[in-house]
Amino acid sequence: MRFDLITIFPEFFTGPLDHGILRRARETGLVEVNVKDLRVFTKDRHRTVDDRPFGGGEGMVLKPEPVFEAVESLLGCRAGEASRPSAADPKTAIVLMSAAGKLFGQETARRYAQLERIILICGRYEGVDERVAEHLATEELSIGDFVLSGGELPAVLVIDAVTRLLPGALGNEASSQNESFSGMAHPESKALHPGGRASSPPRVRRAGLLDFPHYTRPAEYRGWAVPEVLIGGNHAEVAKWRRGAAIEKTLRNRPDLLPEE
Ligand code: SAH
Repeated sequence: MRFDLITIFPEFFTGPLDHGILRRARETGLVEVNVKDLRVFTKDRHRTVDDRPFGGGEGMVLKPEPVFEAVESLLGCRAGEASRPSAADPKTAIVLMSAAGKLFGQETARRYAQLERIILICGRYEGVDERVAEHLATEELSIGDFVLSGGELPAVLVIDAVTRLLPGALGNEASSQNESFSGMAHPESKALHPGGRASSPPRVRRAGLLDFPHYTRPAEYRGWAVPEVLIGGNHAEVAKWRRGAAIEKTLRNRPDLLPEE
């Protein structure tokens, strides 16, 4: 799996990608992360990437030319060839990070984990010229209903969530199958059409459980004891307790994940 990041802050990524699972995945060649400085694709002396918005208003907008050219250079295609839908490579996604995008979740992470290449465009300022969303990106992605100052942090988050789903990324293969959200329906994998883009919104109901609570030693800490059943060694009882505790936790923290009835 290859990730390409397009950013005006390439140094941002030294650090977040250098620890734990992500670091190991890069070292073993499971993932390759390539950071591209957007300013490389400017032509003026000041390496200008932004300009004032048409129609007036606050702030600056990232210009389309460097973004288009950065993607075209990454794909090794000529000007105009990366524009949708002509460049439809089902194994490549061109993702524009955007607070106004479709919501990222575990289902999207699972769909991305099937791809070979993901190009992540990180916005700044007031955002990116809309023609990037309209004619270049295969999708516009938001990591949550809040506004951050740039797309770099959201892009790292996507890389992390996708990488840990790749076979061999986690020490223990079972672990990504029993996590929070892992029980959720996989609507998107079926909804993919040949262009590699998800079609109309999935109708499968979003249902899943959060992870069960984990405990480790000491068995008693400041008077708080670990649930008895976990210490007993009865695997069937442990499994039953974990399922119950996961349901309880989901009800308490994320009732929206549970089936409606
Ligand atoms: N004016 C925009 C916000 C721009 S924030 C709006 O109101 O929607 C600047 C950049 O940060 C965006 O272009 C995007 O790349 C990134 N960003 C901010 N919030 C984000 C989020 N929730 N998800 C993904 N990217 C986000």
